[in-house]
Amino acid sequence: MQHRRHDSFFRLASCLILVLRMTTLLIADDPVTSQRQRMVSAQIQSRGIRNPDVLRAMRITPRHLFVPLDVRSFAYEDHPLPIGFGATISQPYIVALMTELLAPAKSHRVLEIGTGSGYQAAILGQLAGAVYTIEIVPELAQSAARTLRELGYSNITVRQGDGYQGWPEQAPFDGIIVTAAPPELPEKLIAQLSKGGRLVAPVGAIWSQDLVVVEKKLDGKVERRPVIPVSFLPMKSAAK
Ligand code: SAH
Repeated sequence: MQHRRHDSFFRLASCLILVLRMTTLLIADDPVTSQRQRMVSAQIQSRGIRNPDVLRAMRITPRHLFVPLDVRSFAYEDHPLPIGFGATISQPYIVALMTELLAPAKSHRVLEIGTGSGYQAAILGQLAGAVYTIEIVPELAQSAARTLRELGYSNITVRQGDGYQGWPEQAPFDGIIVTAAPPELPEKLIAQLSKGGRLVAPVGAIWSQDLVVVEKKLDGKVERRPVIPVSFLPMKSAAK
């Protein structure tokens, strides 16, 4: 009898502890969830991004887990952040804008140049069927691959290499997004775009480029239009 009373006491106590722990976890997650909601309404919707799939992906993707610990508290602010090795994670609005311009669909295979933290790839992974992403800095390629794996993004493949070469083994791509700035549009990337495909890239001189949308028409003709002035890190040339 005595034993049984003890048993039920302990069972009740452990239930209470479990409920308490879950509540703490939920409360602990709450500030980032609301920071993300605010980021999307104040920085992204307010500037005209309307694609509901893009907005949903930006609302649920834990951007703070893609940046180093020392800048984690700034993860949802309206600017780029350093992620080490001279690289930055783009401002949230720019990620949303480039994604909306690319217009990925579930049937699409997308190539990203400049994996960096892996955040843009994570957003694309939720909208496209498959994402291939190339990063020139080995340490960044490794850490982005680890973050994406740990967070369960299973349709994203990261490779260390020179983005100027594209990914010929996986080409053609329905969409190509370039997140470091080449001085000119790389011909090899345009060649790896499928007919009807679209490429979004910052193109131009160091610190001052145009965000450009390139469309390869069904007849193979390539059209290009500038969208807004932007400032990305220059794309490195592997030869240098
Ligand atoms: N998309 C990233 C941000 C990228 S910053 C994110 O969501 O975090 C630009 C990245 O491009 C840097 O990580 C830089 O190392 C990489 N990069 C620069 N030149 C490159 C090249 N030639 N090929 C592939 N990656 C390159």
